[in-house]
Amino acid sequence: MRAAVLWKPGKPDAIRIGTVADPRPGPGEALVRVRATSVNRLDLWIRQGTYRVALPHILGADVVGELEQDSPSGRWRAGARVVVYPGIFCGRCPACRMGHESLCPTLGILGRERHGGYAEMVAVPETNIFPLPGSLPWAEGAAFPLTFLTAEHALNRAALRAGETVLIFGASGGVGCAAISRASRRGARVIAVTGSPQHVPTLRVLGAEEVLMRGSSDLPDRVHALTRGHGADVVVDPVGKAVWSSGVKALARGGRYALVGVTSGAEVEAELRPVYTRQLSLLGGFLGDLGEFEGLVEELARGRIAPTVAETRPLTEAMEAHGQLDRPHFGKIVLTP
Ligand SMILES: [Zn+2]
Repeated sequence: MRAAVLWKPGKPDAIRIGTVADPRPGPGEALVRVRATSVNRLDLWIRQGTYRVALPHILGADVVGELEQDSPSGRWRAGARVVVYPGIFCGRCPACRMGHESLCPTLGILGRERHGGYAEMVAVPETNIFPLPGSLPWAEGAAFPLTFLTAEHALNRAALRAGETVLIFGASGGVGCAAISRASRRGARVIAVTGSPQHVPTLRVLGAEEVLMRGSSDLPDRVHALTRGHGADVVVDPVGKAVWSSGVKALARGGRYALVGVTSGAEVEAELRPVYTRQLSLLGGFLGDLGEFEGLVEELARGRIAPTVAETRPLTEAMEAHGQLDRPHFGKIVLTP
């Protein structure tokens, strides 16, 4: 099959289009003919060598496609349209048995611990397969798994409720967009933060009631002013270093800070006093659980989730797509084999 293969860590040209052996599904695994995948920041980190993987390697955490053959259990027939839960978990440990797959000690990610979707075909555990609604375009399906799962899990970790205010950083990115639409659907009031003024109208359509510009020094004051001095009940942060300090200052008493990424850097100086005097909670969110994914797929089928696609490129342009991720764009960059 044709695939975009990472041969050694490096610049985007470390990925080469070539022909490799078709994947051979192991026990309990199904073979998916990939119709679309999408580019995640994770892919860039793996490509650059921040995450070490066995080489040569095929990236791609987000996979939608059709089953190439009947699944091992017979539950799925060849040709079924599917979307794949991107977490690779053991299914046997206490966390997995409790339905907290994202806490599995051996948790991996499709396209990191095993070959992913930058290819014509990929083998995945049958337990990871869910139905993709027939009406949904492949590209929108590929824009869905990692971003919506991460966002939903973060909102669940923070127990965001209707009527509360949530401050969402990185609003123009994949996780940010997903968090806005999911938070708004919960009945929360969304204040979004973006670095791109041209994205403000679209962020409002997604569900942001207020949109603030990243980097403004008075951002915490703006949040407190918009909430009559209360502050944000919840912060969702996929950005890390660049926004951490203002995010903490923007929190209400008893506020919850959900950290789901560190795209701007991972090391910060923390002022600890407000953490205890204002009774703040710091929550990490990584991926999400199988049950959360199942719930999201049902929402997708009901048309309550509209993944945002920035652009679709052929897989042969995987290198260009990686370059594009660092340029201004809105939503997910999708690749089609
Ligand atoms: Zn496990």
